[in-house]
Amino acid sequence: MKKLAALMAALSCVFAFADTYPSKPISIVVPFAAGGPTDRVARDLAEAMRKPLGEVSIIIDNVLGAGSSIGSNKVAKAAPDGYTILLNHIAMASMPNLLRKMPFNVENDFEYLGMINDVPMTVIAKPSMPAKNFKEFRDWLNANKGKINLGNAGVGSASHLCGLMFQNAVQIDMASIPYKGTAPAMTDLIGGQIDLMCDQTTNTTTQIEAKKVLAFGVTTAKRLTTPALKDLPTLQESGLKGFEVTIWHGLYAPKGTPADVLAKINHALKVALKDPDFIKKQEALGAVVVTDKRVEPAEHKKFVAAEIAKWSPVIAAAKEYID
Ligand code: ASP
Repeated sequence: MKKLAALMAALSCVFAFADTYPSKPISIVVPFAAGGPTDRVARDLAEAMRKPLGEVSIIIDNVLGAGSSIGSNKVAKAAPDGYTILLNHIAMASMPNLLRKMPFNVENDFEYLGMINDVPMTVIAKPSMPAKNFKEFRDWLNANKGKINLGNAGVGSASHLCGLMFQNAVQIDMASIPYKGTAPAMTDLIGGQIDLMCDQTTNTTTQIEAKKVLAFGVTTAKRLTTPALKDLPTLQESGLKGFEVTIWHGLYAPKGTPADVLAKINHALKVALKDPDFIKKQEALGAVVVTDKRVEPAEHKKFVAAEIAKWSPVIAAAKEYID
């Protein structure tokens, strides 16, 4: 009888908690620099999720470093109360394949909340690069072997993964220059301190349009329809056989977050993904908002597991280019 009373008390506490959620600001941890592509998705999404979460404040907390493992680890270890959640991208699948020691377990340490979007990447170069097309770009790379600096957001990041694939495809070893996100890397690329980078269209589209950087290829199998990028050839068209990488973003909560809280966040995500303003902003930057079953937490989890398996042989094939 005593046990039953204790159980009832515990249950009523969980339900009362879920009933009042959210009653204080929610923090979305972005594990990359402010002003970069992941940060951009998070800020637009937070705006769209605010209303379905009862107009609560959503704070973006940029927790930087180590290819997103520091910020991701912070959420893995946070209180499972729905007030600290993670927004991360394909790094959730590349980190387990690339980091020597993972500080958390992607499969066991999180509750999956649903996926947000798919985003192509582009290979871009400093504006002073003396090349007008992919062939001339490749000639420049061949002529500058041993001197090429490739920017990225740290081991395990999307730009690191894509940069590895690119080095392997052109068979040229480049010096990896890690930043805490591709926003600061972009500043150095524009300034010519680094030579090239592979980055999401959510960060590169406006810079390509403004001619602040040169673009030499898109990483999708088909050309993009985004007006600013529609004339950019695919890397496959330019002769890099089988080159294809698309970034995706998802939301995660610490393991053990109550089911009702998870359901509320997932509902708010679903509302945001149908918000015409959010969709428009994403599309203008080449991103495609998720409309399929990956918005369901179980499908999100399955997808990430499949991506970990998918990238394992690709990364192994490029291992000689890993710093
Ligand atoms: N684009 C970065 C990456 O390469 C992440 C960022 O800065 O948002 O993973």
